[in-house]
Amino acid sequence: MSGSQSYISFYPRGNKRRFNSYTDYFRKKYGERVQKVSINAGFTCPNRDGTKSKGGCTFCLNDAFNPSYCRPEKSITTQISEGIEFHKKRYRRASYYLAYFQAYSNTYAPIDLLREIYEEALAYPGVIGLIIGTRPDCIDEQKLAYLKGLSEKHYISIEYGIETCYDNTLLRINRAHTFEEAVFALKLTAQYCINTGAHFIFGLPGESEEMMLEEARIISGLPLTSVKFHQLQVIKGTPIEKEYLDHPSDFHLFTWGKYLEFIIKFLEYLTPCIMVERFTGEVPPRFLASSPWEKLRNDQLATIIEKKLEELNTWQGRLFRQ
Ligand code: SF4
Repeated sequence: MSGSQSYISFYPRGNKRRFNSYTDYFRKKYGERVQKVSINAGFTCPNRDGTKSKGGCTFCLNDAFNPSYCRPEKSITTQISEGIEFHKKRYRRASYYLAYFQAYSNTYAPIDLLREIYEEALAYPGVIGLIIGTRPDCIDEQKLAYLKGLSEKHYISIEYGIETCYDNTLLRINRAHTFEEAVFALKLTAQYCINTGAHFIFGLPGESEEMMLEEARIISGLPLTSVKFHQLQVIKGTPIEKEYLDHPSDFHLFTWGKYLEFIIKFLEYLTPCIMVERFTGEVPPRFLASSPWEKLRNDQLATIIEKKLEELNTWQGRLFRQ
């Protein structure tokens, strides 16, 4: 059997990609590309409103992560409509959309308000589902039971910010929850048969490359449908900027070349069963205190990563052991 045949047969999904692509999952299911459209529904977060803490996570500046069309003063319907127009200029027009509740903690409100907001999004023509970004401590069984009901007719995923598997780091970045709480939320969500997503950051203070690679094994054991990874980008005006300036040696910030090597190794150890939505983050350079990478978009970086996998004849899960 040739090298290229071996990875195809290894994959449970049986396609020619060398990683388990979230984008391809939707393409296969709906017959074409499904576009995510971000929404800022005006939520806050318990790590900012004083319930858990007032400072927020040390790396967080939501303005740096949110597309310009997302403003909470606009209705959900207007944001979806403007989001569709925005993406049309960058990519081919899609026929199907996922409403992505992105800013802050999008389950942090009473159920009646959530119902109103989510159902307005689902009523928009072409919206086939919701991706709901939130914290592991902002979910409960009442909300999960409601979302399970929605998932009978729509694609529903809860995307948890987990960021790291290490409690020392979680403490240091002021996440105000533990890794155990994240695992609990994932397991509970999976019990309700709702898709689970998670977001992780590589390069947080105090973490070595070995620790980050070990996370591939830990993440592989979690009930996750999909994951998003990105390199730490130090954003101006955040508490982590000060920490970075005061203690630069505590940070393992990747250059693009080093990150490429790292992410290939990471993918080799990651289970092939979890879909990968993204490998890198893309903050506009004007927000950055750390050095920006090449002027390439996430999708272009993903293409380079995929080419590198091919060049090395390796793939997601090649070194994964249960
Ligand atoms: S990253 Fe999320 S949880 Fe942390 S402060 Fe920002 S909105 Fe809140």
